[in-house]
Amino acid sequence: MNAARRVIAHLDIDAFYASVELQRHPEARGRPLVVAGVGPRSVVTTASYEARRYGIDSAMPAARARALCPDAIFIAPDFAAYRAKSREVWSIVRARFETVGQAGIDEAYLDVSSLERPLPALRELVAQVRERTGLQISVGVGPSRLVAKTVSSAFKPAAFVAMGREQAAAHFAGHAVRLLQGIGPKTAQRLAVAGVATVGDLQRADHTLLAQRFGERQALALRARAHFHDDSPVETSRVAKSRSSERTFPADVSDQARLEQTLVELACELGVGLRTRQRRVRTIAVKVRLDDWTTVTRARTLPHFTDEGATIAATALELLRAYAPPRPVRLLGVRVASFDDESGGTPAAGHGGQLTLQL
Ligand SMILES: [Mg+2]
Repeated sequence: MNAARRVIAHLDIDAFYASVELQRHPEARGRPLVVAGVGPRSVVTTASYEARRYGIDSAMPAARARALCPDAIFIAPDFAAYRAKSREVWSIVRARFETVGQAGIDEAYLDVSSLERPLPALRELVAQVRERTGLQISVGVGPSRLVAKTVSSAFKPAAFVAMGREQAAAHFAGHAVRLLQGIGPKTAQRLAVAGVATVGDLQRADHTLLAQRFGERQALALRARAHFHDDSPVETSRVAKSRSSERTFPADVSDQARLEQTLVELACELGVGLRTRQRRVRTIAVKVRLDDWTTVTRARTLPHFTDEGATIAATALELLRAYAPPRPVRLLGVRVASFDDESGGTPAAGHGGQLTLQL
């Protein structure tokens, strides 16, 4: 019918680290479980759904999580175990689907446009992953990455929901603008001052007024996002020139120790991705977005290729310390580039070799 029809799925493993830990600690089943680093300044890496009922969430200081639910079981993260499990899951996915763009240790986008019946194929995949790994995947399906991700996030755990663009725009109209990827607390606050609280408000917001406050480009981007317009491609590892992992904090962070811990976690995630793909890199960059949206990138190219999270982390930490963020940080990211097999990369069919450079 429509040659340009795009069908994108976002797959997200439910409470990934907590689920892996529950498999290893069956006695914790049904109880609130929190995976968090040790030490007074550590943050929550992940929380089981039982723990989330107490208001515990990722990136929250572990001390606060303990205060919210003293009876929760606290377990230190074991990234080697998560890496192994992640590899298991995504190799099952890659065996069944061609265009898989991994976006993190527990999430990926699939371009399933070429499939005649994508939903049954995805359902089979979810069942197979559950059967073989014991993990539940949430699936959001839509015409874009934005719709797919919003849907999987909104309906997880055990989500399996498909929506069109207009349907998403209508369905989420009553939700706070924070629902939209890329709109964090500060932007939400600035929008609130302009009388824009919900996605629907943003859809209807006066462009001139938005442009006055945010500038022409960001105003257009915000409006497009509220209407769920997004044509970004699913970036597979074969076409990727760089990979990045980033985190927007629920509240801006000044605490250097917390920034550094987050950076280490992001670096470890990237290391996992590299080893999964058997690729190595030489260039490591950090991206820091301050509370005033100033975005700074610092990069360094190493003399040798690496796929080690520890090496990426060490370099990223040096870069962060050298920059020494002068204001609270809203987003922190790590990017790796200069792959050892760069010249051999061929664009995946159907994407016209299009690249999405995240920095
Ligand atoms: Mg997840």
